[in-house]
Amino acid sequence: MVMNTPVIDFHFHLTTADEYTDWFLDWLRSYAGEGTLAHLRRVLSSPQAMLEYLDGQGIDYAVALAETNPLITGTSPNDRVAEFCRASERLIPFANVNPFVTADLVSELRRCVSDLGFRGLKLYPTYQHFYVNDVRLYPLYAEAQRLEVPIMFHTGSSVFRGARLKYGDPLCLDDVAVDFPELTIVMAHSGRGFWYDAAFFLAQLHPRVYMEITGLPPQKLHGYFPNLEKNAHKIIFGSDWPAVTDIKGNVAAIRGLSLQEESKARILGGNAARVLGIPT
Ligand SMILES: [Zn+2]
Repeated sequence: MVMNTPVIDFHFHLTTADEYTDWFLDWLRSYAGEGTLAHLRRVLSSPQAMLEYLDGQGIDYAVALAETNPLITGTSPNDRVAEFCRASERLIPFANVNPFVTADLVSELRRCVSDLGFRGLKLYPTYQHFYVNDVRLYPLYAEAQRLEVPIMFHTGSSVFRGARLKYGDPLCLDDVAVDFPELTIVMAHSGRGFWYDAAFFLAQLHPRVYMEITGLPPQKLHGYFPNLEKNAHKIIFGSDWPAVTDIKGNVAAIRGLSLQEESKARILGGNAARVLGIPT
């Protein structure tokens, strides 16, 4: 299994420099360096440019994220993201709906999956200000479960202006996992900051709940999750590009962890391949 397992980046933002808010671009420059903006423009200039970048980073597949976060980061529309990802099966589009912007959550999900070829959904409760166990979202979850598409939720902290952290509590996903037992749930950032224990416990408890470790320094994972190896079959790697541009550095750091080789292969792509239905 180890040899053939793909390396998958489960968290790659497809928002362009023109689509980001001014605030976000200022943050990106200060966080990731002045040159990041030129890098962002270059990588997203065409699907081919992005594929070349992924090749250089040793990434086989990337989950490419749409977003509708006008108050915080910006908006990369579902239709544009779908169009971009049509170039290659290595670009796996995840749609977004915003309960305060999208008029009909269920029909938008259906359109995204059936007409546009989306393979999953990413929800941003901390940027869109809703609790994930709000019953307004339940018809959406029922439809995702019926369509058999996974939903990734932002969990944990964010430093973005206007984010509201209370909505990032992964414990609220316990309700969703109980009420939709066939729905695959991916906890982006694994409850970063205040809720590592809750995220780890939920991934152990619920067969279809996964931890995604985007934004967590790999060398700190053993500290955040003392029983890391026990959940190795439920942990998924992601980069959070463009905030992180040295993806291959993080891949190498995970390969350097004291875990079984098979566990590292699972974290770097085996688990994501299972969630996405990519044969290994
Ligand atoms: Zn992100």
